[in-house]
Amino acid sequence: SYRKGGYHAVRVGDSFSGGRYIAQRKLGWGQFSTVWLAYDIQFSRYVALKIQKSAPQFAQAALHEIEVLSAIADGNPSNNKCVVQLVDHFKHTGPNGQHLCMVLEFLGDSLLRLIKYSHYKGLELNKVREICKCILNALDYLHRELGIIHTDLKPENILLISTIDPNKDPIRSGLTPILERPEGNPNGGATMNIVEKQLKRRARKAVARIGRRASMGGVGGSTKVERCLDGIDMRCKVVDFGNACWADKQFAEEIQTRQYRAPEVILCSGYSSSVDMWSFACTAFELATGEMMFTPKSGQGFSDDEDHLALMMELLGKMPRKIAVGGARSKDYFDRHGDLKRIRRLKYWPLDRLLVDKFKFSDNDAREFSEFLCPLLDFAPENRPTAQQCLQHPWLNIRNSTKNEVKSESSLQKVDVGMSNLKIKVGK
Ligand code: ADP
Ligand code: MG
Repeated sequence: SYRKGGYHAVRVGDSFSGGRYIAQRKLGWGQFSTVWLAYDIQFSRYVALKIQKSAPQFAQAALHEIEVLSAIADGNPSNNKCVVQLVDHFKHTGPNGQHLCMVLEFLGDSLLRLIKYSHYKGLELNKVREICKCILNALDYLHRELGIIHTDLKPENILLISTIDPNKDPIRSGLTPILERPEGNPNGGATMNIVEKQLKRRARKAVARIGRRASMGGVGGSTKVERCLDGIDMRCKVVDFGNACWADKQFAEEIQTRQYRAPEVILCSGYSSSVDMWSFACTAFELATGEMMFTPKSGQGFSDDEDHLALMMELLGKMPRKIAVGGARSKDYFDRHGDLKRIRRLKYWPLDRLLVDKFKFSDNDAREFSEFLCPLLDFAPENRPTAQQCLQHPWLNIRNSTKNEVKSESSLQKVDVGMSNLKIKVGK
């Protein structure tokens, strides 16, 4: 991908935008871009530099993202709405062409990383509540004040803000910014290697530290990693507006990452900001359980779309006939009675039971959490609460959750999850 039209190759110490930003190390990458930690000379701070591939379709996508991020920044100078802030943008010409670059405020690990740290066991409910409040604040701002639909909400696209100043974060503390590329210096290469090695060593040490602390816990309500996160205010921001659209100016029919996709998108019934509320519910479930809510797969005689619809109904009950047959693609999946054509027998397993049986929630936690989630997973998009309404839900202000401490009677019964999950599917 590092060729004409592709990624721009960056080396530590490279400078951008007339020398204002100096590349420090790579933070991540996506299909369209690489993202670098950079030092902003003008304001003496670290920023995230997103460098887009140079081919026209990528430039087009970046222009769109810049437009959305600018609208977000213009509407929100206070920087407290839980959405990433665009700091600057510019063009950078390199050997592979001209690259659009976005300068974003520097954030921390994604929620997906946090779920991995929990060994896919899920986070303590009080932390889930804090994170949910942030995401809902972001969605309320995007939907109500700006008319923007994110369309790709998922744990990967939500990044933590450490309460520790990102410029003084333990992983990066003691780091003096690299201000120039050590080239032209006869020891240039070697100097850079030392710098890179130093950075890597520090990162490894920090990871080892977190790992050690993470393996100390394990008793009571909090999972291991939560012990090392204890006391850290769980705040986060929504990122990645590459696929966002305006409620009144939509671009794509097929939106959202598969597992977080709302039923109306699969059925092509038209969509609104309530698709983000569906993805939000899937994300909240994943934070609390460590597992995705829906992982559809195609099988013999049925597609992944059909499996997805079946999984939804097994968890949430039968889809009302009018909704099932109301989409442009309904005929591909449902008969005129509103029954799936190729997956005939469903094994219903309501959300509150699933939380108790499979994820060992107490009856009380399971009931409260599913009362919070179920309205967001209404098959009728117009019935789903808005982010603003959802922020009023009592579940967000419950304290002292007992998850993993008090095991209900039924959770002690042995449940063969694999078998209960079986459903009978008939080929065409
Ligand atoms: P794409 O649109 O290509 O998926 P993203 O905007 O999701 O790009 O960024 C790719 C990755 O870069 C993210 O998953 C994350 O690891 C990292 N990243 C993006 N923005 C930031 C940021 N503001 N601060 C820190 N890391 C970031
Ligand atoms: Mg992304």
